[in-house]
Amino acid sequence: MITLALSKGRIFDETLPLLAAAGIEVLEDPETSRKLILATNQPGVRVVLVRATDVPTYVEYGGADLGVTGRDTLIEHGGQGLYQPLDLKIAQCRMSVAVPSDFDYASAVRQGSRLKVATKYTTIAREFFASKGVHVDLIKLYGSMELAPLTGLADAIVDLVSTGKTLQANNLVEVERIMDISSRLVVNQAALKLKQAAIRPILDAFSNAIEKNAVPS
Ligand code: AMP
Repeated sequence: MITLALSKGRIFDETLPLLAAAGIEVLEDPETSRKLILATNQPGVRVVLVRATDVPTYVEYGGADLGVTGRDTLIEHGGQGLYQPLDLKIAQCRMSVAVPSDFDYASAVRQGSRLKVATKYTTIAREFFASKGVHVDLIKLYGSMELAPLTGLADAIVDLVSTGKTLQANNLVEVERIMDISSRLVVNQAALKLKQAAIRPILDAFSNAIEKNAVPS
């Protein structure tokens, strides 16, 4: 049995066409079913639904053989014990620094002020500001980061930005782009060796499907 860990929403939806390319069809809709283990049209393949941040943990410890998760989540997890063979180019967005539109970020950085930064992504934020030589106090949050600067909890946030509409709706502006983010396929290292025959065709099908979708440069 091959177990694939996915999170509901964007990642699940954008992984479906890749699974279809590998001849795998998920038989239930996670938006209407309450099941956490979903069967597929292939008796040897099943999907488990976990929180996005738990995908690396499931795959690391063998609760799932494969998983799909964002580059952001992988960096925060550390990626230990995971083989990362493919950038799936799905759930694309960017990790950015944003501040209230009336906050002079450039001056604060130039003057060496100590910035209060709220984020769920503390590893990425710590490394980014350390590389710039900016002193920060990091405040760990688990959601609604946009609220932090509006309530005086922080000067800035580090968060995922896709269209920029959430920032705009909260009167925040993007002042630095830290990195581009997309989702990756992760594989349990032992499973890759022991279940090669079943896993390899899935990797190949995913890889071909991504190449076909790639925008020619
Ligand atoms: P947007 O308003 O389109 O810029 O989307 C920003 C909001 O969606 C933020 O709250 C982000 O945390 C979330 N978001 C955007 N893209 C992603 C993604 N690829 N994965 C997870 N969350 C995302």
